[in-house]
Amino acid sequence: MKRTELARRYCIDGDTRFRLASINPDDTWKLKSKDQAQEWLQKGIARLSELQDKLYAQDQWAILLIFQAMDAAGKDGTIKHVMSGVNPQGCQVFSFKTPSAEELDHDFLWRTTRQLPERGRIGIFNRSYYEEVLVVRVHPELLARQKVPPALVTGDIWRERFEDINAFERYLTRNGVIIRKFFLHVSKREQRQRLLRRLEQPAKQWKFSLDDVHERQKWGQYMRAYEDMIRHTATDCAPWYVVPADHKWFTRVVVAEAIVEALESLDLAYPKVGSAKRKELAAVRTALSVTKA
Ligand code: ATP
Ligand code: MG
Repeated sequence: MKRTELARRYCIDGDTRFRLASINPDDTWKLKSKDQAQEWLQKGIARLSELQDKLYAQDQWAILLIFQAMDAAGKDGTIKHVMSGVNPQGCQVFSFKTPSAEELDHDFLWRTTRQLPERGRIGIFNRSYYEEVLVVRVHPELLARQKVPPALVTGDIWRERFEDINAFERYLTRNGVIIRKFFLHVSKREQRQRLLRRLEQPAKQWKFSLDDVHERQKWGQYMRAYEDMIRHTATDCAPWYVVPADHKWFTRVVVAEAIVEALESLDLAYPKVGSAKRKELAAVRTALSVTKA
């Protein structure tokens, strides 16, 4: 089994006829058990940790990881597990919820643009500007709240938003921001089980929201919006990974592999130490050996 094959299976990078139905949420590829996946995940996490150290030291590239999913698909847990070996100093996580009044007073990319990762860092968006073609598309009343001049709100608005997002992501890529996008693809049936478990377990009850049940009733509309979004915004420079999410252990391995692959595609290396720096290091060594205490 080749590691690279694992993430690539779920990578969509320009298929305008992509169908969500072509990826089974229950899929676990050739991995047969949670234990086997755990081994892969540990290796992936260790590799990620090494690569991130170089990314940070080199201070040139930035990584933007975007997570989108229906509720209870496992975004939070995936982020927590996959990034568990990463130095917190080099990683920034932002969650985007219902926009505030101030945020609604701006263009739709404003609030996320302010949180883009710096060079040398990994930035994680837990939900993102993609909500603008998902929840906002499923709920027209949200679009009405955005105060966009009515003349600009036409039947073309979703196509225009896709175009703007693609242009924005190309711009970021040209500036050294590497983008990878993950849609955690959970089945409606598995979501139901997870929501029921949230109701039963005291440690999970705080996560439960009646809104999750309301959104669940619009499942079909959401899936159509996700499919259309992937068709229009999966590009060479910013691919979507449609990750089977009915088995959390599998989701985590795929995401970890995809991130490792993205980092490995870069020319990451520790900065070279020049002659001036070498002299400085020699002086430090001498000073330390003179003052033994
Ligand atoms: P959890 O796993 O804790 O449920 P979550 O990401 O679902 O995490 P919630 O507070 O439950 O967080 O939900 C955030 C809500 O904000 C989602 O329903 C999402 O669709 C909504 N939201 C995010 N961005 C926008 C936006 N731009 N416009 C309108 N709603 C948005
Ligand atoms: Mg939620």
